[in-house]
Amino acid sequence: MSSSSSTCALCPFRLSERACRKPEGKGPENCPTSRQSSVRASLDEALNDPRIFEFARQASLQESSAYADRDRGYDLVRGIKPRIAETMEFAVRMNFSRLGLVFCMGLHKEAAIVHRILDKHGFEVVSVICKVGRVPKAELELGRKDQVDMQAEMEPMCNPIAQAAIVNQQKTDFNILLGLCVGHDSLFMKQAEAMCTVLAVKDRLLGHNPLAAIYTYDSYSRYLKDPGLLKKDE
Ligand code: SF4
Repeated sequence: MSSSSSTCALCPFRLSERACRKPEGKGPENCPTSRQSSVRASLDEALNDPRIFEFARQASLQESSAYADRDRGYDLVRGIKPRIAETMEFAVRMNFSRLGLVFCMGLHKEAAIVHRILDKHGFEVVSVICKVGRVPKAELELGRKDQVDMQAEMEPMCNPIAQAAIVNQQKTDFNILLGLCVGHDSLFMKQAEAMCTVLAVKDRLLGHNPLAAIYTYDSYSRYLKDPGLLKKDE
């Protein structure tokens, strides 16, 4: 890795003492706050767009609204809202009325509940399943050995590009991702015209809570420390 690459996740300073938290704060040699004026230039350029400015402003207002007891000091604040509520609140703040809900087939029951919740709160909902279009995986030059169901004659691919095309055509104001796979989520976000947020990510093993592996890194998930792990999975 280049010595100039940012390593904020490994920052050696206490959160309250960091350069990104206070003007006289500390940062390591490669600190992007202390060392790179281009960061500031990028921000200024982006905020020159009034739509980005308002999006960023409302996102910050949404953030602070999600805590109680802010007047008691930073150590005593507490989160008070589930993400689904925050997602709807943010959409209202932004005057987004038409929401895309793009979801994985494996979460179709959850998607139905989310669709109804959004609908109940007055949003127009465009929901699109991952297998939309029923395009065979063979079109990605994949064979039966690459299918989840190896016995099936044909397996439809997850089709985030089609999901994006549909919500684009149906002119959603904001898109909510629910359980898309690693990579499929990337393709959707790349192709979608409206801004996107994620309600939940796919984790087949851990009930869509990938942080469970991180929380148990020193216990049940310690196998993640094995440097040979990825080679074994190939
Ligand atoms: S911006 Fe600088 S001070 Fe803040 S976490 Fe990154 S390296 Fe540390």
